[in-house]
Amino acid sequence: MKDLDPNEFDVETLAIRTSQLRTDEMAHSDPIFLTSSFVYESAAQAAARFSGEEPGNIYSRFTNPTVRAFEERLAALEGGEACVAFASGMAAISGTFFSLLEPGDHVVSSRSVFGTTNVIFDRYLKKFGIETTMVDLKDLSDWEKAIRPETRILFLETPSNPLSEIGDIAALAKLAHDNGALLVVDNCFCTPALQKPLDMGADIIIHSATKYLDGQGRCLGGAVVGPKPKMDDVLGFVRSAGACMSPFNAWVFLKGLETLSLRMEAQSARTLELAQWLESQPGVVKVHYAGLPSHPQHQLAGRQQSAYGAVMSIEVEDAAGNRDRQAAWRFIDATRMISITANLGDVKTTVTHPASTTHGRVAEEEKRRAGVTENLIRLAVGLESVKDLKADLERGLKALASA
Ligand SMILES: *Cc1c(COP(=O)(O)O)cnc(C)c1O
Repeated sequence: MKDLDPNEFDVETLAIRTSQLRTDEMAHSDPIFLTSSFVYESAAQAAARFSGEEPGNIYSRFTNPTVRAFEERLAALEGGEACVAFASGMAAISGTFFSLLEPGDHVVSSRSVFGTTNVIFDRYLKKFGIETTMVDLKDLSDWEKAIRPETRILFLETPSNPLSEIGDIAALAKLAHDNGALLVVDNCFCTPALQKPLDMGADIIIHSATKYLDGQGRCLGGAVVGPKPKMDDVLGFVRSAGACMSPFNAWVFLKGLETLSLRMEAQSARTLELAQWLESQPGVVKVHYAGLPSHPQHQLAGRQQSAYGAVMSIEVEDAAGNRDRQAAWRFIDATRMISITANLGDVKTTVTHPASTTHGRVAEEEKRRAGVTENLIRLAVGLESVKDLKADLERGLKALASA
């Protein structure tokens, strides 16, 4: 992008053209700097690098050109000043909290966040004197009531997993700022291809790159995007704590970002078509997907997102009217192509029974509150044809009808 202003490019272009790396041989594909350390011309140069007098690479726990390229590209896509890459989404989430919070601080979080994020709140932040209050993602007054003078961070995922509930990013950003707190958004389900929380007032974005940024289920990774001074704190933490991204994984994510917009649009379109179709099928008692006009927050999702994403969930019942685990498992086990797994964000469509897997260890009371019923099935739609996906889901519907 010689002499061009990146601010003039669209997301699709930034995803391909930001921070292209070149070797001396002028390879067109970005090289992988698969090296733990870097060498110097002289002892004096080594000293200057270590003292910070001369910028440059020292060691891949601190900086690596391939990881740097991924960070710059994701920051450009989110419209943020800086980005720090991590070894996984959970490393990014815990690294952000441990760098930005002090003992005595308080966090307000949506109850509907990734299960392991709850473990960080419940077990680890608590151990260091940081308390978290859980609230209903959709209920602004619940957020308001939970705020204390020592609240530093409001945290959410939107759309939520697995019920596709929507948090109002602009309203929550205002609430956070009115109370001297930061709004941190886990943007894993939409990615910047569909939703730009920073443009709506959020302060910090977190990603599990493992999901849609990779897009093909190959590598674990995570990232945090936000203002430079805050990201300097986060970088300081990852340099010391060591949960840094591998250069090989960064290269896979760089390639993933190049096709992100196309994948997100195509997977969202397939999901919408399947959700509309499933809504009228016998055996399906409810479809949870913000792209459907029947979804209570359809309008809000339409304002915040350019498409509705590729995760939906359905509640099923068998021919005898049972809405239980057996009905859900019967449906899942009748599919022949779709992968039975808890992962998502892949070009391969996946099917999950949340109550017995992702939410298996959640207390019954919490499960009920989160809407994770025994007959709930999550579908993360990939890139197979809608015809073939329908044929596979029809096997599940037939199994329900014959029960
Ligand atoms: C998977 C996931 C995470 C955790 O990411 P890992 O890369 O598995 O550590 C965090 N948030 C959301 C929304 C996720 O789906």
